[in-house]
Amino acid sequence: MPAFPAQYWLVGVDVGGTTVSTVLLDESLHAHGELTVDTDLSSADNTMLGIAHAIEATLALGGGARRLAAIGLGIPGQQDPANGIVRIAVNLHWYDYPLVARLTARFGVPCVIENDVRVATLGVYRFDNPAGDQDLAYISIGTGLATGVILEGKLLRGRHGLAGEFGHVIVDPDGPPCNCGARGCLETLVSATAVVRRAREALAAGAGGALVALSPLTARGVYEAAAAGDAAAQQIVDDVGTELARSLRSVVLAYDVDSVVLGGGVTRAGDRYLAPIIAEWRRQQATSALARAVLRPEILRIADPTRNLGAWGAAALAAELIEE
Ligand SMILES: [Zn+2]
Repeated sequence: MPAFPAQYWLVGVDVGGTTVSTVLLDESLHAHGELTVDTDLSSADNTMLGIAHAIEATLALGGGARRLAAIGLGIPGQQDPANGIVRIAVNLHWYDYPLVARLTARFGVPCVIENDVRVATLGVYRFDNPAGDQDLAYISIGTGLATGVILEGKLLRGRHGLAGEFGHVIVDPDGPPCNCGARGCLETLVSATAVVRRAREALAAGAGGALVALSPLTARGVYEAAAAGDAAAQQIVDDVGTELARSLRSVVLAYDVDSVVLGGGVTRAGDRYLAPIIAEWRRQQATSALARAVLRPEILRIADPTRNLGAWGAAALAAELIEE
């Protein structure tokens, strides 16, 4: 390993199917700039080049005071961090793509990749962790549902990089079909996509009220309708929260974490998002000493929506290359 100067830059990159977000951190993990650009999906190599240009523009935000030391990237899908290869990133059209080799050749510094939700989990642990918890789970809820777990201060990866993939745990074998090919996976029941499907089903069953007026029909709209007092929307919010509460119980029991952090667009409903989850935990507590011991509402919280935890976590991952 080359010797690093006392002062240097780290760049963290959160690569999404729509946008690429970056953050520039110094050696003390203080931020000196962030930017977001559109993802170039015109070809596999152009996607990489677009990211490289974003990294260069990010470095320019910091001026010439320091030299780049390492780059970390969070990428959706299945990653092979040991070999620096993106195995499957469907939305980015990358299959067995040697991203680390390409970026290392261009920037001449160590680069590291990891699954985007695991990187965001590291971001929560390092930058959105007021109690300094060493054991925590992060659940990202969007079009799908994915989780990351930190145990004893270490990101849990597992043999295939799938540790904590609760989104595809089968909850209802007769439930809706899932993108993974199974039926009734957790994400088909509680993701933002599931909220929209539930609303469609409620409308088809004759629900009136605010849902009828939602165009387009979005998860956010359903949560807003519930907040405004719409009964059908509230039923959906309650059903989703109850289902999620049962699965979060499994997460807590599987990993014995100090905190469970929820992130993603729907969680911006804040306390209203947490309320039905906590209500179900309290129902379980009424008859169970185990539930009273482990399902404490104070371990649940919403991730800081103002910080791009994916990009920050990726920069923290880059820092680990240097700290090692
Ligand atoms: Zn599935």
